[in-house]
Amino acid sequence: MEHTQLSNHFSLAEFCQLSKYPDNIPTMQAVANMAYGCHLLLEPARREVGPIIVNSGFRNSRVNALVGGVANSQHLLGQAADIRPKDPKQFQRLVEFLNAHALTDQLLTGPGWLHISWNPFASPRHFVRVGYYK
Ligand SMILES: [Zn+2]
Repeated sequence: MEHTQLSNHFSLAEFCQLSKYPDNIPTMQAVANMAYGCHLLLEPARREVGPIIVNSGFRNSRVNALVGGVANSQHLLGQAADIRPKDPKQFQRLVEFLNAHALTDQLLTGPGWLHISWNPFASPRHFVRVGYYK
């Protein structure tokens, strides 16, 4: 599982932070949700801004509680990722790209990183808040 790819440039291990949380094992549904986000949002974003680092992707309930995630976090479903561009100068371009993307569900930005979510089972809410995280 540590070599499983979700898409060309995003691995299951980085999405689940398996080196840090070895028991953070997703369900098959969560894997499918992550692959959806990687193929439709993160790979296109990567083509715009270059390599993207996933700070946090899938979280089981234990990991979600550890990092202080909200109880109904989309991270629990594999429908969200906290990301940053490897090149910090690309941050604004990344925000603009995801803001303009039709499949963006939630986009919440912090200093130099952002939370992006998607939902294969519902119309995207396109809820965007710049500067949401201080
Ligand atoms: Zn998040």
